[in-house]
Amino acid sequence: RSFAIRLPTPPQMDNRGNYIVSLGNLCRWLGREAESLGVEIFPGFAAAEVLYDDAGAVVGVATGAKGIGRDGKPTANFQPGVELRGRYTFFAEGCRGSLGETLIERFGLRTESDPQTYGIGLKELWEVEPAKHRPGLVVHTVGWPLDAQTYGGSFLYHLENNQVAVGFVVGLDYRNPYLSPFDEFQRFKTHPAIRPTFAGARRVAYGARALNEGGVQSIPKLVFPGGALIGCSAGFLNVPKIKGSHTAMKSGMLAAEAAWGAIREGKRATALAAYPVALRRSWVWDELRLARNVRPAFRFGLWGGIAYSALDTYLLRGRAPWTFRHHPDHAQLEPAQNFRPIAYPKPDGKVSFDKLSSVFLSGTNHEENQPCHLVLKDPAIALSVNLARYDGPESRYCPAGVYEYVEAGGSRRLQINAPNCVHCKTCDIKDPTQNIVWKTPEGGGGPNYPNM
Ligand SMILES: Cc1cc2nc3c(=O)[nH]c(=O)nc-3n(C[C@H](O)[C@H](O)[C@H](O)COP(=O)(O)OP(=O)(O)OC[C@H]3O[C@@H](n4cnc5c(N)ncnc54)[C@H](O)[C@@H]3O)c2cc1C
Ligand code: SF4
Repeated sequence: RSFAIRLPTPPQMDNRGNYIVSLGNLCRWLGREAESLGVEIFPGFAAAEVLYDDAGAVVGVATGAKGIGRDGKPTANFQPGVELRGRYTFFAEGCRGSLGETLIERFGLRTESDPQTYGIGLKELWEVEPAKHRPGLVVHTVGWPLDAQTYGGSFLYHLENNQVAVGFVVGLDYRNPYLSPFDEFQRFKTHPAIRPTFAGARRVAYGARALNEGGVQSIPKLVFPGGALIGCSAGFLNVPKIKGSHTAMKSGMLAAEAAWGAIREGKRATALAAYPVALRRSWVWDELRLARNVRPAFRFGLWGGIAYSALDTYLLRGRAPWTFRHHPDHAQLEPAQNFRPIAYPKPDGKVSFDKLSSVFLSGTNHEENQPCHLVLKDPAIALSVNLARYDGPESRYCPAGVYEYVEAGGSRRLQINAPNCVHCKTCDIKDPTQNIVWKTPEGGGGPNYPNM
């Protein structure tokens, strides 16, 4: 709370020689490059459904219809979805992809791997005073304000143009239902070692997104008839590095090479066996295999995790003859009666803020008149389990204030403010009974992250 100790930089976090860029801007540039090569890109259309042939092989995706009203009926703006068919379809929806999860279930892709585990990453972009800007500086922290049993940490990246990206990751295997990742992040910025960077600065953007933390032991089977999982849909994030764009790109390249080989042989809708083979032979697999025990070691607490990570990195060099296993995050939440509510400080409006003003900065926009994309399998469970047993944890883990328990006629009910959703997928992951299902909203809706 009041001091900071500088630790030696672990090799995974050594960023010398790297560039700090906005991934959103990089993707926009890559998109233009791809289009100039003849690739067709359809922004504004979400893939809402997987298409299968009679033999059960994947043959493409269908985009969702536009112009369906809140009541589920077509409005005057109705446009039916379109089918996009291909000989092979790659799913690159990022962490906890909706279609990817249905494929994992349908084809039993996770029968030989651990459950995926996740963290929620919150991020803000700031314009700081020129005197405080040190282009290229990267700072990572662990510890405060999280308790020693909760995995997480922060990053500060000094980009160009006096911009600093600050972010905070909280492992979603946390146990205390009173924990609010958003408020931990806001509190983090008030630490005396961090606050000065943001004094007199202006916050310009906010976002949140889940990230995979399972590592190599949580990677499912990658292929099925007609398609493959690539990037964070499969779970290639290197957790100690908090980096996954390099592995995502490489996995896409290897899958593309496998598909090209199959197409040249005249195949269609087969399982691309060459892709997982190439991936296991690539640096992606080596990198993830060597890092596999670092994240799960934090089950021994902050200091146990740091001690094990040092041993694993410097002495064992990732070659320990054992692999720590994972458990699903939603099963880790404990009843509220085991904890006391956490009293988070009120936002000061200078370095710490509330959720609603933050959502405003995420540029989130959804067509208001559409069916709610956050579906409760059984609406009664919100009160009978989530509120009764866990004191409504979704109102705290959602970083956008989507879930609110409100008083109505002397009783409480769960109100879902779906238009605020920043598509982080945390509710789909952390809901204790997996009662919340995140469905693809109408295409084009969601956050808009310039320079993030
Ligand atoms: C806070 C945070 C900080 C990070 N920092 C770094 C870092 O410094 N360096 C690094 O390398 N990595 C970092 N990562 C990880 C990195 O962002 C991911 O590993 C990487 O973006 C994965 O790429 P991807 O293409 O697989 O998925 P994504 O980048 O998530 O892209 C998936 C895209 O598909 C879209 N989509 C999803 N579902 C559908 C659908 N059904 N239909 C149509 N479109 C859909 C999504 O909107 C998204 O645009 C960070 C992640 C987080 C959360
Ligand atoms: S509703 Fe779910 S996916 Fe949307 S912002 Fe909240 S936790 Fe994230």
